[in-house]
Amino acid sequence: MSQPVLEVDHLRKTYGDFVAVDDLTFRVQSGEIFGLLGPNGAGKTTTIRMIMDIFIPDAGTVSVLGATPRQARLRVGYLPEERGLYRDLKVKETLVYLAQLKGMDKDAATRSAEAWLDRVGLADWADKRVKDLSRGMQQKAQFASAVMHEPDLLILDEPFQGLDPVNVELVKTLMRELQAEGRTIVLSAHQMNLVEEMCDRILLINRGEGVLYGELAAIKRDYAPNAVRISGEEDVLTQLTRLEGVVDAEQNRDVLILRLGQTSPQAILAQIVELGLPIRSFEVESIPLNDIFVNVVSGVHPDGSEEGAEA
Ligand code: ATP
Repeated sequence: MSQPVLEVDHLRKTYGDFVAVDDLTFRVQSGEIFGLLGPNGAGKTTTIRMIMDIFIPDAGTVSVLGATPRQARLRVGYLPEERGLYRDLKVKETLVYLAQLKGMDKDAATRSAEAWLDRVGLADWADKRVKDLSRGMQQKAQFASAVMHEPDLLILDEPFQGLDPVNVELVKTLMRELQAEGRTIVLSAHQMNLVEEMCDRILLINRGEGVLYGELAAIKRDYAPNAVRISGEEDVLTQLTRLEGVVDAEQNRDVLILRLGQTSPQAILAQIVELGLPIRSFEVESIPLNDIFVNVVSGVHPDGSEEGAEA
């Protein structure tokens, strides 16, 4: 397997007595979209700032593209949580300046700025001042500034915040295009539905510590309830509540959720077929990432028990 693009080992950062990041270890693989998640104040931005060489860790190491954060600086793109381009400068002028700071020569920076302004729908605004753009437009310009020097690793801190649905789609499309070009993306976002759509693997941080880490699909499988959702005629569904292995049933007109004990969804389906009962749809229940996030952060296990309740 190729070397991870980002290797974070036993990272720690304190502000005075307060431990903001505590013994954090994770990897980001080449070409993936990796979700860095956590509640407000969990330590995501602090972690990103150490990856970006803005903060020095108190302990632990960060390796970016096989080098130190400082050495890798020009190969990384960063959309920071706190937005702000120079308000009095013109949009294109600002992008060209920022791309030059990332090592591009002026001609290449100008070409890239024009192409990216076009791509994010701001070509007509290139010579306007930043302060004349709406907040969402400024954010798109800042997205362009993060990617225009063609970084190998892109770190996006809340890229969807404040964008309308059309621009959310645009940013998603751009992220997928960048991934298809082989770039690696770290996405920090609070919209769990978008994280589910975009991310291959995630790390959930809570109070500075990693509490959930790995492939998103596997995490969702681990947390999924053993239950099935069936739709059909109301009276047929009522009969299904008596199937063998059902421990609890919840019927809402033509939709039925059966919670299962030791039985599998396949065994339930087999019983329905055996009985010859007509149904419209049958699906294994899944759990939204949003629920996993809330449960893990509030210390509730997938089975509903509270963490440490027996202690
Ligand atoms: P959010 O989702 O709200 O952006 P976050 O996960 O990015 O949160 P951080 O900004 O990393 O969280 O903050 C982690 C903790 O460290 C918070 O409790 C915050 O108050 C604290 N903190 C962050 N920066 C500083 C600082 N410069 N001085 C003191 N404490 C800080």
